[in-house]
Amino acid sequence: MGGSLFIVSAPSGTGKTTLLRRVMQEVGHLVFSISHTTRSPRRGEVDGRDYYFVDTDRFSAMIQDNAFLEWAKVHDNYYGTAISPLSSRLEQDNDVILDIDVQGAALVRAAGTFPAVSIFVAPPDLDELEKRLRGRGSDDEETISRRLTNARQEMAQRHDYEYLIVNDRLDDAVSMLCGIIFAERARCRRGIDGSPLSGFRT
Ligand code: 5GP
Repeated sequence: MGGSLFIVSAPSGTGKTTLLRRVMQEVGHLVFSISHTTRSPRRGEVDGRDYYFVDTDRFSAMIQDNAFLEWAKVHDNYYGTAISPLSSRLEQDNDVILDIDVQGAALVRAAGTFPAVSIFVAPPDLDELEKRLRGRGSDDEETISRRLTNARQEMAQRHDYEYLIVNDRLDDAVSMLCGIIFAERARCRRGIDGSPLSGFRT
């Protein structure tokens, strides 16, 4: 058994991207799973770093080929986690972060292919979330209200996760997520087969 899988879900505008960037800088042997999506790149996003940006035909072909561990339609676009790069990274003893939505998280749990630690990141409250979404200035009114409706539905599923982090102060949220990862690494036994950790990491 190699690395562990960490699922992180959050309603959009919760500050998850910033949180994950900070955690990736602070924790070694931790890699980010790059999803495939049919969404267009936002300003500053890079293909192969933030996402693999693909068209709907390519995405459908990957579904047909069973290339995804999970995939879902989120905010009118398709997103999916390819199995093959994920398996290799785990086999190479890297811990992997999956930044996926609540549907994807439920599918990974149900599939049981990879045991995963799941973490839900919540905004302090929904008014605060609305302020953050408007503050980004990147989305129109319709997109913002759709994202708020989705956020309410996503929040209702936070109890399906093992951990809940309220992203009130970023530094605290970073410490909590790092703490969860280190605690998982410190387990004497883990995984479905209870296999011991294979090595030491910092
Ligand atoms: P965004 O378009 O803002 O980058 O992401 C929108 C939502 O899609 C976020 O909740 C994000 O976690 C989710 N997402 C990103 N990649 C995947 C994926 O591979 N699978 C699933 N199910 N959701 C994803």
